[in-house]
Amino acid sequence: MVMGDMEMNTDLLIIGGGPGGYGAAFRAADLGLDVILVDHRPRLGGLCLHAGCIPSKTLLHLTQLLDSTRRAERMGLRFAEPKIDLVAMRYWLRQVISSMAGKLMSLAKRRGVLVIQGRAHFSGAGTVRLEGAEISGIKFKQAIIATGSSPRPLPGLVFSPDSRIMDSTAALALTEISKTLLVVGGGYIGLEIGSIYAALGSRVALMEMKNRLLAKADADLVGPLQTRLVEHFAALHLGARAEGFTETAAGVVVRYTQNGKTAEMEADRVLLAIGRIPNCDDLGLEHTGVTLDSQGFIKIDEQQRTSDARIFAVGDVAGGIMLAHKATRQGRVAAEVISGRKIGFDVRAIPAVVYTEPQIAWCGLTEVAARREGIAHAVQRFPWQDSGRTQALGSFTKLITNPADGRILGIGMVGGNTEGFIGEAALAIEMGALAEDLALVLHPFPTLAETEDEAEGSNDNAGHILPKGDA
Ligand code: FAD
Repeated sequence: MVMGDMEMNTDLLIIGGGPGGYGAAFRAADLGLDVILVDHRPRLGGLCLHAGCIPSKTLLHLTQLLDSTRRAERMGLRFAEPKIDLVAMRYWLRQVISSMAGKLMSLAKRRGVLVIQGRAHFSGAGTVRLEGAEISGIKFKQAIIATGSSPRPLPGLVFSPDSRIMDSTAALALTEISKTLLVVGGGYIGLEIGSIYAALGSRVALMEMKNRLLAKADADLVGPLQTRLVEHFAALHLGARAEGFTETAAGVVVRYTQNGKTAEMEADRVLLAIGRIPNCDDLGLEHTGVTLDSQGFIKIDEQQRTSDARIFAVGDVAGGIMLAHKATRQGRVAAEVISGRKIGFDVRAIPAVVYTEPQIAWCGLTEVAARREGIAHAVQRFPWQDSGRTQALGSFTKLITNPADGRILGIGMVGGNTEGFIGEAALAIEMGALAEDLALVLHPFPTLAETEDEAEGSNDNAGHILPKGDA
């Protein structure tokens, strides 16, 4: 690395320090490349650590504790009504984030990755200009764009930190647990944050323009969650489309249409979670050969190359499924391609988990996608019978197989702790397992996976991953 007149040179410049960016940086440094990573946050972690995955999962963990203590009464354990201390909760959250950010920074340092705080804009062939940094610019041989995504506003709306109309970042800051909250958007972000607020005492209503929640997941997996939310939330307005908001001193008036009619409702606060848009507007892409798709995401090939030979893109900014583990894998692929390896992003099963109560998880082919794309498939469902509770939640696992040879194409599950199983499901799909291969795997007893052992003998085609019983 050569320090010049406020300008630096590097083999590899990475813009964005989230899971995609640091995944790429660490792998590239391990492979011997000279790496500079620029992020406008002072520490690594990106949206995922500072305002996404980690804050939401930390708070969901707290709310699940609350939920467990409330349920324990039925099992003969009575706790006093919990006191919710928002200040202490925010402090705990900051500590979790800070400790993880510290670890990422030391991993970068140990590998010799130079992390610079600033905002990067491409300014010419092989150069970026930096804003808010001590260095004015960087010349690079190759660059990886890993700038992530931002919440999609409604037309004309600009999110601001002191508004009552919140994006996910503002909602996770837990400034206030308002008496009422309207969540607009029935995707996983709206459902998870809505569940947090409901557990902390808000009366939560949810509005979704489609007639169902979680449009990318199979409807049968979503069913038990929807049943639970009907009890847990004050209202579910499906098929209702938010058209605009008016903020008043006391709250927000929401204009919406449903069944062709326009109406209004009021809430103390609104969480708008209607999707995410790529962070590439302000990147100076006009100075590069990078092109965008019709949705504004950076076009890439299977090696993460953009249409500019020097530049790669990974993670949310490159579209597709927006999840942290996908971003990290893409980052590692880009780093390896840049260092000369013949490799591509070739993943059959990207696992997704919705951390609600009950949880939903799936990977590989879904029934929705199989039907849409006309893929021949067979479906088997296996209800969980490990406890009264999971039965009450309607928990089950489903296998989607190729009817010709029994190969597993997709696995979905709804119930408790699906996060603990879905990794195994992804492995089965990546290894090309047949349904009967799963039935031969022994799981330890006593664990929740033990329900899977019980499936043996109950159904010859039931994999070992499958709980007892045959739907
Ligand atoms: P990001 O993590 O967004 O990082 C991009 C970084 O680039 C940011 O730090 C940004 O500030 C920086 N940047 C942008 N432009 C510039 C610039 N010009 N110069 C310098 N820096 C710049 N995913 C999961 O897998 N599991 C979950 O449980 C999960 N929960 C989520 C919960 C919420 C509420 C949200 C909003 C998202 C969640 N996600 C989850 C999605 C996950 O956070 C993203 O998929 C992931 O962060 C994408 O990683 P990335 O590296 O592409 O971008």
